Parts: sequence; C-alpha cells; structure tokens
Amino acid sequence: MNHIAENLNQIRAEIAEAAVRARRQPEEIKLIAVSKTKPATDIQAAIDAGQTRFGENYVQELIEKWNGDELVSSNIEWHFIGHLQSNKAKFIAEKISLVHTVDKASLAVELSKHTAKLGRTVAVLLEVNISGEDSKYGLRPAEVMREAEAVMSVPNIELKGLMTIASPEREKVKTQFHAMQKLLADLQQHFGTGITELSMGMSGDFDLAIESGATYIRIGTAIFGERSR
Ligand SMILES: *Cc1c(COP(=O)(O)O)cnc(C)c1O
Repeated sequence: MNHIAENLNQIRAEIAEAAVRARRQPEEIKLIAVSKTKPATDIQAAIDAGQTRFGENYVQELIEKWNGDELVSSNIEWHFIGHLQSNKAKFIAEKISLVHTVDKASLAVELSKHTAKLGRTVAVLLEVNISGEDSKYGLRPAEVMREAEAVMSVPNIELKGLMTIASPEREKVKTQFHAMQKLLADLQQHFGTGITELSMGMSGDFDLAIESGATYIRIGTAIFGERSR
C-alpha cells in the first residue's frame, strides 16, 4: 500500500473513533481530501484508495487538473475551499459540487449567472470568520443571518450551511467550533431544515470539529503530506 492509501485508512479510523466518542454515526462525517498544490498522481492514488471528494483552493490549479488527462475517475466530487474572487466564479461553475467559501451574497449572485446558463444548481456554504482574525476571510457571526437570507433568494444556488477555519491555537478551537454549531442551529431554526452542513476541521483539529457537529472535514497534510507552498 502506498503512503496516501495508508494515510487515508488511518484518517478513516480516526474519524470513526471521534464519531463514536461524540455519539455520532461515522457516515455523518464526509471526508474531503484537500489536494491543493499536489499533483494529479497523488489525487489518483487517493481515488484508487476509494476517496471521492476533493477540495481545491486555487481556480487556476483546479482548471488545470480538470483539463489534464491524468485523472481517470469521472465520479469525483469537487469542493472549492479557497477564497473565490467574483470574476473567477465563471471558471468553476460547470464542475464544482460545493463552494464552501461564499462570504458575500454578491458572490452567490455572480456564480448564479453562470450556473443558470448551464442549467445547474450549485450548493454553497457561507464562510464565517469565527476567530475574528484580520488575516481571515469570512462573515462576522452577526452578519450571517442577513447574508443567508440574501443568498437563499438567489436562483440556481442552494445554501446548505456554514464553513469556517478555526484559530491555529488549539485551546481556542473548541469554543469556536461550538459557536459555529450554534450558528448553524440558529440558521436551521430560522430558515428550515435544508441547511444541514457544517464544514470545519482540518488535519490538526478535525477531532474537535467532529465533537461539535462537523459534517464535512477538510484534510490535506494528514493525507498527502506537507505542502511546499
Ligand atoms: C489547506 C486547507 C485545508 C487543509 O489543511 P491541512 O492542515 O493540510 O489539513 C483545509 N481547509 C482549507 C480552507 C484549506 O485552505
């Protein structure tokens, strides 16, 4: 077995353990393999080991991977998890499954122009800056309700939930993930049951994310190894 397959097995076991500790079903937690900066051969190794969901951060890199002929699996689910500029939305509209990083309704409107033309609907999450760090993108928690309402009225876009990147300081992470769980519950109460997804947790903190109800976890380093950039 290659190291990517081994790492995936390890992560799957850790997800199952964290789920049991949190009294959740392991199937409720969907693993996204974050393949940014990694070559198609690494993605293919993960596909061969049964992985189907991949997350990418950069539009240009994603297009190159889509246009290349290295990837043989056609049932890959692609997740966009990087900062998305409005003028780049058109490039991912055709093939993306879920955009995790909508941080203003106007971005959803821009994406919608292109998904409407293609006759498809794309699922999105609202990115929340839960740690309040200046360096991070995302809505302030107090803005989420208003922005959610605006995004829900955009055609060919389906709001499914929330996404965040927690603080690098582990002692703060638990509180932040709890706050996200609460925000999602508020949204559900306000807008109904279609809003179910909580994207949070990376290599260093996915155990805590699972405790706080994460439905998507986004893991790069622990699957593919360190990134050089
Ligand atoms: C790079 C990245 C990840 C993966 O981080 P690791 O620490 O390598 O697991 C997850 N989410 C986002 C938004 C990222 O940019």
